[in-house]
Amino acid sequence: MSNILVERCGVYNLLKICDIILLKEGMNEMKIAVCYLSSLFLILLLPLSVTAEVKEVKAMVKDIHWLGHDTFKVVGEKVVYTDPFKIKKKDTADIILITHEHYDHCSPEDVKKIQGPNTVIIATSDCAKKLSGKIKIVKPGDKINVEGIEIEAVPSYNTDKPFHPKANGWVGYIFTAKGQRIYIAGDTDYIPEMKNFKVDIALLPVSGTYVMTADEAVKAALDIRPKLAIPMHYGSIVGSEKDAKRFAEGLKGKIEVVILQEE
Ligand SMILES: [Zn+2]
Repeated sequence: MSNILVERCGVYNLLKICDIILLKEGMNEMKIAVCYLSSLFLILLLPLSVTAEVKEVKAMVKDIHWLGHDTFKVVGEKVVYTDPFKIKKKDTADIILITHEHYDHCSPEDVKKIQGPNTVIIATSDCAKKLSGKIKIVKPGDKINVEGIEIEAVPSYNTDKPFHPKANGWVGYIFTAKGQRIYIAGDTDYIPEMKNFKVDIALLPVSGTYVMTADEAVKAALDIRPKLAIPMHYGSIVGSEKDAKRFAEGLKGKIEVVILQEE
């Protein structure tokens, strides 16, 4: 049996492949032993590595604080805030990510509450006009590195409502914290680009009206396939915890969902 076949046998982790190969190439005790043992080894090890990955992602959740609506404080190598709105406690962010210009996402008075002299704000151009300080303007598709943190601006728009037209160039973000790729979707519907996102943790809107409904967010999550999803965009302008629960219910047994308590 060639090395490639041995490797395939192991990688695909299927004893059946061994049977096919062995039948095709002729039985020989050595081949049988190598094939079955490598399969067995992977069968035993794979669940362990998957469990370790899930543990890492779950450990990150304690560093993700939901401050209501689309406002999160993520504490990784840097302190990252998303769409600061109705900020209750003064703080200093290293990085502020703002998805678009609407008042409940781009709020100059809330930005001031968490902005220090070194805070870097990443925003779309229409929001940037309302702010001052260290600002980087982004559009969908941009990839930047801010103080060692990888940040991608990704498309975020409505498909069946007029509030967030694709032409506005508004964004969601995928950024890295403690090795996890975290996606904050912004005000978006379920869009085809989502299936190309590589994400560990997805923060998805679920309220409907201006964004996806909980059911649409379930479809989005199944396309994005994060290791963990957190519902957002409810409890403030539109939507309630019912939407978050419906979202969790829809993904039961498929994708881990954590409903965060507002802090
Ligand atoms: Zn909006």
